[in-house]
Amino acid sequence: MPLTQMSPMLRSALAKGRAVAAVNIIDFNSTRAVIDCARELGVPVITQVSTKTVKHWGAKSVASWVKTLAQDSDQDVALHLDHCTDEATIRTCIDAGWTAVMFDGSKLPFAENLARSTAIYDFTQAAGVDLECEIGAIGGVEDDKVVKDGEEMLANFDECLEFARAMPRMGVFAPAIGTAHGFYKGEPKIAYDLLDRIAKATGLPIALHGGTGLTDDQFRNCIWRGCAKVNLSTMHKRDFIEGFGAVYARDRRPGEPLVYLEAQHKTMRDSLRPFLSLFSLGGKGAA
Ligand SMILES: [Zn+2]
Repeated sequence: MPLTQMSPMLRSALAKGRAVAAVNIIDFNSTRAVIDCARELGVPVITQVSTKTVKHWGAKSVASWVKTLAQDSDQDVALHLDHCTDEATIRTCIDAGWTAVMFDGSKLPFAENLARSTAIYDFTQAAGVDLECEIGAIGGVEDDKVVKDGEEMLANFDECLEFARAMPRMGVFAPAIGTAHGFYKGEPKIAYDLLDRIAKATGLPIALHGGTGLTDDQFRNCIWRGCAKVNLSTMHKRDFIEGFGAVYARDRRPGEPLVYLEAQHKTMRDSLRPFLSLFSLGGKGAA
């Protein structure tokens, strides 16, 4: 199938109390693992890319991998730009045929975040591309943006309403609710009540950032409350490196790169399977 829009995927998941995984891809092989896993389970999926990775490969190259692999799949696949702070990269990705973009103005003062987000919303709407916006500060490291422990800032409820009113067709909304990027050092404190209130009041699908390391119950609780997009980045990057490196360290065959690429693909696909499966079952039965 051709690339799909992200918004209908998320609206449908939200209505069913389910979530779609958004996995940060790194190259062709990591994209193949994501799309193969989704096809095997019969679920839609979002391939998303950090700004750093787009700048490394170019927006057209990334789009070509995803389009090629999506063509052979009977499941919906969207291509999304993750945590972008510059408008030029957003426009480059849209021109290259991406179906969704995130503008992350969370480090800006609220009024400036709102003004820049709505300006980008206007042109993404005109281009038929879905937009994700962030409020508050999600902890950890995303690209080179660091939010230190203790500096995470939960989203302000009234500011969330203002965002939703200004951008009623926002594809997905990312308010900071206590999760963090990278590996958790301690127990994440998820602000479930705040998530509940934001999801109910805005009616928007909510993005759960910092999915790596959350428990099944935490996922179910978030999905049940309206997180229709669940980001998995750090675990996929770890599996990408370990899946190749650990096998090569055990069994060195320098003339056989495909052996390691296949091991890498299998590691990533096996690791994603339980998560994609859990998200597709949704939040019912959550404690
Ligand atoms: Zn994130």
